[in-house]
Amino acid sequence: SMDKLKTALPVLERLNDAGHEAYIVGGAVRNYLLDLTLNDIDITTSALPDEVEALFERTVPIGKEHGTIMVIMDETFEVTTFRVDGDYIDHRRPDHVIFVKNLKEDLIRRDFTINAMALDESMHVVDYVGGREDINRRLIRAVGVADDRFAEDALRMIRAARFQSVLDFQIEDVTYEAMKNNASLIQHVAIERIITEFTKLLQGLNPAAGIQSLATCGLMRHIPLFRTCSSLFQPERPVSLEVYIAYHLFTAACDDHEIKSLKLSNDSIKTIKNAVTIMKILSHQPDSDTLKMLVFKYPLSLIESCRAVVGSDSDVTAIYQSLPIYNRQSLVVDGHALISHLDVKPGPWLKYALADIEQAVVTGRLHNDRDTILEWVEQHVEI
Ligand code: ATP
Ligand code: MG
Repeated sequence: SMDKLKTALPVLERLNDAGHEAYIVGGAVRNYLLDLTLNDIDITTSALPDEVEALFERTVPIGKEHGTIMVIMDETFEVTTFRVDGDYIDHRRPDHVIFVKNLKEDLIRRDFTINAMALDESMHVVDYVGGREDINRRLIRAVGVADDRFAEDALRMIRAARFQSVLDFQIEDVTYEAMKNNASLIQHVAIERIITEFTKLLQGLNPAAGIQSLATCGLMRHIPLFRTCSSLFQPERPVSLEVYIAYHLFTAACDDHEIKSLKLSNDSIKTIKNAVTIMKILSHQPDSDTLKMLVFKYPLSLIESCRAVVGSDSDVTAIYQSLPIYNRQSLVVDGHALISHLDVKPGPWLKYALADIEQAVVTGRLHNDRDTILEWVEQHVEI
């Protein structure tokens, strides 16, 4: 984490040399102090966006109206002008920002003390809010008056539970009470932003604790789909959003009509459906042929995570490793070969014949060998 952090020092130096203040800020400082890997490095500076663009060869104006310029060196950095948020409308993030002159204002508008520290060119930590102390105590504490901060931007409540899970920290009492008081405001926040934080929560070290907080504070009661759940799954291990949702559908704990309200991608919806199917199969004492077809058809990683969730002891990885083929293209016989060998017109039979061959080969009843397959087809397939 130290090495990655150092890649940002030349950016700070160049800004400093041009007479601007510049600091590494937010998650990178937090993770550096915790000796965790850094995801991305954010830099905050007194320089205006135009000044940042003028100082670096390769830049992308990824959010110029909010003060953010991406600077590309060996790594990429998001460089943002010191700013505070404009007026909050309706408990959501405001749509405009106000550039400010000093670092302190930029830091105290941030959500939690552990996220509100800065690091200068000489690796000195700037901390106006007791962030370092909270890191040592492993606490998530809102900057300033928690009630006000959650009323400004209700997403911060989900973020509190996200960091609780990801870092395996506790939420400080006053902050936690404020989550209970403001829970219903989460309805005003775009579902896409909620899902982004919730996905990170599920992939954290302690998803059970994060979910528990969201449930106890009454936040889950205001999130589509989960608000209909009779019981909430509290996973002990990291899990994807798709498998998490699938488990609720599998146990019929919630109303699947509400899936649409989560505005997930088509890929995610498909993965959820597959995961529900996999869970059903795994939980019905599948025989070995069924398991072979299962690992042939669906991604092993998805099956493994479904297996962990439903608590099946089938050794799906071993079954996968002993499969004779991994896709239909590996069959030595294809549709053309069948048509010319059997000398019949193509038709719906072809699809069924290929599926039968595939199943017989995958389950080990038929060798993936041209003559063997063609002979088998003559005996077994109705045309
Ligand atoms: P990660 O390592 O997961 O990226 P992060 O702390 O960098 O964690 P981001 O969501 O990338 O989290 O946000 C970057 C920083 O911006 C945070 O550390 C925090 O200082 C600030 N921030 C982000 N979202 C909010 C918010 N809703 N309200 C106030 N400050 C926020
Ligand atoms: Mg980040």
